[in-house]
Amino acid sequence: MSAGITGRQGPIAGHIPFHPEVERLLASPPTVFIDGQRVQTRTGSTADVADPSSGQLLWVAAEADADDVDVAVRAARVAFQSGAWTVHMKPADRQRCLWRLAELIERDAEIFGQLDALDCGRPYATVAGGDVPASAEHFAYYAGWVTKLTGRTYPVDPEGMHVYSVREPIGVVGLITPWNYPLLMASWKLAPALAAGNCVVLKPAEQTPLSALHLADLAMEAGFPPGVFNVVTGNGSLTGAALVAHRGVDKIGFTGSVEVAQSIVAASAIDLKRVSLELGGKSPNIVFPDADLERAVEGALWATVGNSGQSCTAGTRLYVHSRIYDDFVSSLIAKASALTHGAGMASVDHDLGPLITSTQLDRVLGWIDSAASSGATIAQGGHQLGGPLADGYFIEPTVLTDVTDDLEVVREEIFGPVVAVMPFTDVDEVIARANDSRFGLAAGVWSTNLATVHEVASKVQAGTIWVNTWGLTAAAVPFGGMKQSGHGREMGEDAIDLYSETKSVWMGWT
Ligand code: ADP
Repeated sequence: MSAGITGRQGPIAGHIPFHPEVERLLASPPTVFIDGQRVQTRTGSTADVADPSSGQLLWVAAEADADDVDVAVRAARVAFQSGAWTVHMKPADRQRCLWRLAELIERDAEIFGQLDALDCGRPYATVAGGDVPASAEHFAYYAGWVTKLTGRTYPVDPEGMHVYSVREPIGVVGLITPWNYPLLMASWKLAPALAAGNCVVLKPAEQTPLSALHLADLAMEAGFPPGVFNVVTGNGSLTGAALVAHRGVDKIGFTGSVEVAQSIVAASAIDLKRVSLELGGKSPNIVFPDADLERAVEGALWATVGNSGQSCTAGTRLYVHSRIYDDFVSSLIAKASALTHGAGMASVDHDLGPLITSTQLDRVLGWIDSAASSGATIAQGGHQLGGPLADGYFIEPTVLTDVTDDLEVVREEIFGPVVAVMPFTDVDEVIARANDSRFGLAAGVWSTNLATVHEVASKVQAGTIWVNTWGLTAAAVPFGGMKQSGHGREMGEDAIDLYSETKSVWMGWT
């Protein structure tokens, strides 16, 4: 058993009982999914998967090595070359496959809810009622795109040339996803990649492989030809790196850390693979005195603590106008201290789950200690939870005050429920401070003054600006980062661009 993981998890009193299919999946042997079926890896090498709510062993996953990745990539290549998903399948039929997969995801909401709640500790209700419908929405939205992948005509020489463009799939696409919203992050990439006609090899995060494998089973039920959608499980430096290095992969779509993205960009230089990246953030959230303060406190709280702070968009730099600062901080602390915690599968409703691993818990506690020793005040929280949750990786929502812009907790992504609250006095000042970051994923502004809102929305460097709200995304709306938060935009038509090539055709007739 891996370090830190304790005995195997069985049924727990006070938890939602396992769905029979979840029980079956947890009892299943370690497999990957290649060419339409679950298969064992060549070496049989495995890795333990823990439930972060209990620290106990949940499942044993297969660890695919470079040979297994090669088999998966070849299966995807054969499927792509065969045209089974493109030239020999009418767009309307490909559309039906994606639509049917959306329906099957909804049908299996309880199963997906349990798999992701167990694997990453998120409250079951937020997965089954949030991530699952959002994932289904992605497949339904991109199902619509399949029949609308049109090109253009160009009036270059109307008398002797017919010039037009078409959109074609890129080929075999490797998708590497993180553990924080396992099903949803996979769906953000799979739906547009498949809609555009690519064949894919998905590598989910090693901490959360279960929902990806179940999704692959459902793709077969939805009528996908074998080889179109493959899943390899395993850790990043082995399985992920093999996928990136494989010459048969035409593009990598990645969501994760800046450090891994740097290694992917470097490794992909060898064959100039296409790469799109959705990376971290250190999102500023700015509250002006004319905002609806009750909504702003609630919004600022959830911007930070949502998914226990394990969101790339987390609004962890909270700038509050000095005129309202003291009252705002008091309300924030009151709300943060009232939040409840529980295991992903706890049957009693609760607000927050654990962090993903004991390593991540130690890292977050380390960031808090380092801020405190640099003069920050821990105004709320700052500790691991004890009592009945002591075996899981739970941490109190943490509010830091008396922080300066140069502290690491203000500059680096923490991936825990830790917010640094800082006063400001002037709009130009706060815009400059908001932009003083290597990240540019998202930002928030809370104000009822249109001029203020427009100024902040136009001058803050971020791929998404939320005004008097936080955290909303939808399949139709582009999402991605400026600066070191990424390359390219997912969702909407932008993701079709990300997963297709434009071909121009010059046809002379004279
Ligand atoms: P996080 O910090 O959110 O865990 P990572 O960037 O470490 O993010 O991981 C995101 C995904 O990238 C996971 O699926 C992980 O296995 C994968 N990964 C990690 N290292 C590599 C690598 N060297 N090459 C390819 N994929 C990797």
